[in-house]
Amino acid sequence: MNAADGRYVGRFAPSPTGPLHAGSVVAALASWLDARAHAGRWLLRIEDIDPPREQPGATAAIIDTLTRLGLHADGEPVFQSARGACYAAALETLVARGLAYPCGCTRREIADSQQRAGQAAARHGELVYPGTCRDGLPEGRAPRAWRLRVPAGTVRIDDRLLGAVEQDVAAEVGDFVLRRADGLWAYQLAVVVDDAAQGVTDVVRGADLAGSTARQVVLADALGVPSPRWLHVPVVAGEDGDKLSKQNGATAIDAARPLPVLDAAMRHLGFEPPAVRERDPWLAEAIRRWAARFGPQADARRR
Ligand code: GLU
Repeated sequence: MNAADGRYVGRFAPSPTGPLHAGSVVAALASWLDARAHAGRWLLRIEDIDPPREQPGATAAIIDTLTRLGLHADGEPVFQSARGACYAAALETLVARGLAYPCGCTRREIADSQQRAGQAAARHGELVYPGTCRDGLPEGRAPRAWRLRVPAGTVRIDDRLLGAVEQDVAAEVGDFVLRRADGLWAYQLAVVVDDAAQGVTDVVRGADLAGSTARQVVLADALGVPSPRWLHVPVVAGEDGDKLSKQNGATAIDAARPLPVLDAAMRHLGFEPPAVRERDPWLAEAIRRWAARFGPQADARRR
């Protein structure tokens, strides 16, 4: 199922770690424009699977900001905190297929082996796993986390903006975590299970997550579910040149005045913002501009 069937499903999937900032608005606007340009559905998923990192009130603030910006979701938001049973079922499936295994290693042990091998941490906090428990827990070890048995070989992704992207997940990340030692579900598992369950055909998100895409493709294959198409938009940099975050100057945006916020996001996406000073006509024109570059006709040219 993809956009060619006229059944496009997109989504915005914020983690409620704080209110939306300029960077998250860019991801929200881009995914919304892409869904509207394809006459598709746009779903909102609140990725609240990491309580220690969450901020009380953030979910309500995010939903309020999206409403003020005119980015209305189709249907009620899905909360990952309510979907533990689905993640458990997915893990069981993988275990039954011999594709997931328990790991008894501590973070410290993995970090030490990584240091010995001179490797840098992969994205999303993942340390390259040396495979210690792959063939069974060593004597006297208790299971801590659950990991995916990553097949050897290079994953190739055709990103609608970045073009061809390749990653050797086995070598660059290793067998990654599906369920953490603290019992929380890993982002990678939750996102793949939910994108599949919600029938998401197109993921449009910040390029800071592009490094996770190959892991998500490997996991979708292991679960036997289709992978969506991908489009990663440039991230907004903070004062220190890194991705904008609360640590480097991200401030909540002033959604009471939506047009300057939308203008800035549109410009960041490489488009001239519409001149009209009314929100809904602004959005309608923005859809036209986005469609000219990324809409169904552009998809057809890519094929
Ligand atoms: N919840 C993730 C984040 O806020 C985004 C997930 C995704 O778009 O795949 O970083």
